[in-house]
Amino acid sequence: AARRALSPFATSSSVSILRMEPFTFHLGTNTVSIDKVLTQESQFMTVPVFRFAPSPNGHLHLGHAYSALLNRQMAQAAGGRLLLRMEDIARERCTPELEAAMQADLHWLGLDWETPVRRQSEHFGVYRDVLDRLIRMDLVYPAFLSRGDIKREMQKATAKGLVWPHDPDGAALYPAIERTISKRERQRRMDDGQPFSWRLHMDRALAHVGEPLFWHETADGGSDIAARPQDWGDVIIARKDMPTSYHLSVVIDDALQGVSHVVRGRDLFQATGIHRLLQTILGLQPPIYHHHRLILDHDGQKLSKSRRDTSLRSLRAAGVTREDIIGLAGLPVRGSTSSP
Ligand code: GLU
Repeated sequence: AARRALSPFATSSSVSILRMEPFTFHLGTNTVSIDKVLTQESQFMTVPVFRFAPSPNGHLHLGHAYSALLNRQMAQAAGGRLLLRMEDIARERCTPELEAAMQADLHWLGLDWETPVRRQSEHFGVYRDVLDRLIRMDLVYPAFLSRGDIKREMQKATAKGLVWPHDPDGAALYPAIERTISKRERQRRMDDGQPFSWRLHMDRALAHVGEPLFWHETADGGSDIAARPQDWGDVIIARKDMPTSYHLSVVIDDALQGVSHVVRGRDLFQATGIHRLLQTILGLQPPIYHHHRLILDHDGQKLSKSRRDTSLRSLRAAGVTREDIIGLAGLPVRGSTSSP
């Protein structure tokens, strides 16, 4: 079934995969049931929907320009729509000024998109509803360990000669020792005001789905990729100070916005395994994925927002033109058919 549900164009069967219980999203002041959302979604499924989804926590650099331009190019080639989404759940780092600068840079690049732009910070109620559903399904648990606690657990394991597992990004996996804490004790800690995040009980989530998951990848000639969510351990579903995380918001928004094609950097390739797992648990239709190459700096490092030298602003200030950027990103400036 997981394989069959891969095509975003298989609307009638995939709409009916869904709902184990009534599931409602609150969109602004309107309450919309997910069934209605999916019905609406299926109406525009014939038109491919692409999105560029930056986090406005710094200035756009060449890597973002490449991703945005590639989205535009692929959307145009497919006769599709292009959406812009601000992934700004980290309110302390994402400012309106940075968002405005980002939009100005994208306009300068010659991009336009449909409005209104979806801002994740305006939809915490939607994420909260989905989180509540995962809590009711008993697939997430409150995780109280501090960084220091985690370090101590790692030291204990290392002293015993054990190797601590790491996720595909190289971060230490969360120790799963809190999975067995009683409901009562959890409640006591929450009532005490101990800070916690919600983490996915990975084993239970995998058992709940009960079958291998795949996604359809169109980069490198196209193939079905086996999802490996288990490599990430008990991932964060909702951060300490908010009812969501990147992984939860991204799958909800891609589904709510009817995104059929996710075009993004290869750094998110393995994370797609988590996204497939969440989509399957929530009964959301999976998009097709295209993980493009990353633009690296001279040292072979991924570009980052904290490095100013490749920000579009500084390149532009140094006299670099829009066409230069398109050329630097290695994309055809106009009309060429070479594939990225
Ligand atoms: N907001 C993410 C970023 O800026 C991208 C998310 C995505 O494309 O799925 O890295």
